[in-house]
Amino acid sequence: MSNQTITLILSYLRQNRTATRSDLAAALGLHTRTVAHTVKTLLDRGLLIPAGRQQSAAGRRQELFSINSSYRNYIGLDLGATHIIGILVDANCSVLERVAFDIRPGLGVEMIISQLRSVANRLQVSENRTASVGGVGVCVPGFVDPRAGVSIVAENIVGWRNIQLHKILSADTTAPLVIEDSSRTLGVAERWTGSVQRASDFLVIDIGYGVGMAIYAGGELYRGTNYKSGEIGHVTVVPDGTVCTCGKHGCLETVASGKAVAAIARTAVRQGKSPMLMDLVQGNVDSISAADVGVAANTGDALARDLLRSAGGFIGLALANAANLLNPSHIVLGGGMINAGAILLDSVREALSLHTMAEIFNELELSVSELGIDGSALGSAIIAMLDTTSPAD
Ligand SMILES: [Zn+2]
Repeated sequence: MSNQTITLILSYLRQNRTATRSDLAAALGLHTRTVAHTVKTLLDRGLLIPAGRQQSAAGRRQELFSINSSYRNYIGLDLGATHIIGILVDANCSVLERVAFDIRPGLGVEMIISQLRSVANRLQVSENRTASVGGVGVCVPGFVDPRAGVSIVAENIVGWRNIQLHKILSADTTAPLVIEDSSRTLGVAERWTGSVQRASDFLVIDIGYGVGMAIYAGGELYRGTNYKSGEIGHVTVVPDGTVCTCGKHGCLETVASGKAVAAIARTAVRQGKSPMLMDLVQGNVDSISAADVGVAANTGDALARDLLRSAGGFIGLALANAANLLNPSHIVLGGGMINAGAILLDSVREALSLHTMAEIFNELELSVSELGIDGSALGSAIIAMLDTTSPAD
């Protein structure tokens, strides 16, 4: 029994509410013996419950199963460069409670940790909790070591290095804790509840303040030798470009991340190139964010439109290189920057089509995530669930 089988069965049941063993085998292309074994294990653990019987064509009444939504609750925490989002979900992934904070740039590491603990504690004692907390998943950007429970470095959070997140958060909970990279948990959420539930080989790009990627290969999340895969934000797109937080030059993040788009816009606005953006932020140029650039672009501002077209072109170029290398069936565009809308997304699509080999491009489906800003937090809750229901085994 693999994680992949559990994921397939649980995500199918989440979507369809009930199913028989035959439904699961047929819909998911699994061997009936594999389905029977996995269903039995999940029933024994209490995560699945019987849900009556269904009359089959052959006259045999087959048992139906569903997810036991009161089995356990799970907490998903997403610590980003600009936010902390925490959600409490039941085993069906229905959100029972949500807590969110904005992080202003320059907030110290101690304060960020204290906020994160406070979000986790509020969710643990939530009045909306319907069962005991079975696990806590935490995601952070940058490099993480899930085995050691350490957030090694998040370049976009000042001073964030070698944070012993597992140890710190374990002080407040007895539930098992899992730590993962935030772009990967976005990928997990897409796999679980999004548009790629049946796909085996796909990429989910997370375009936010930074840029990251979840890579699924053969139905499993691909993490690389030491959990450092998916750094598409540090793929070189301008060989002699500006210096990046990683120390190299011309990385995708220097021209197409939320951080870069905002910084380029601020410089241009100071040079008087966008009176509209200046008005939008009422003269407070330092406060210009990528979201402001999106608003200005969609109101017709030429500078903002050019910035988003340029960013989309670089993202499409990097994705084309990834597609040529990995031949995915799907690429999902996610993260806060996608809210900029068609101007950015059309440029991504155009560059992707321009630079991807035709045979590979023709087999590729490009879609936009519908999970919104809670996607990574949801994926964190899901990895907590999977971690505690997988065969230890
Ligand atoms: Zn870089």
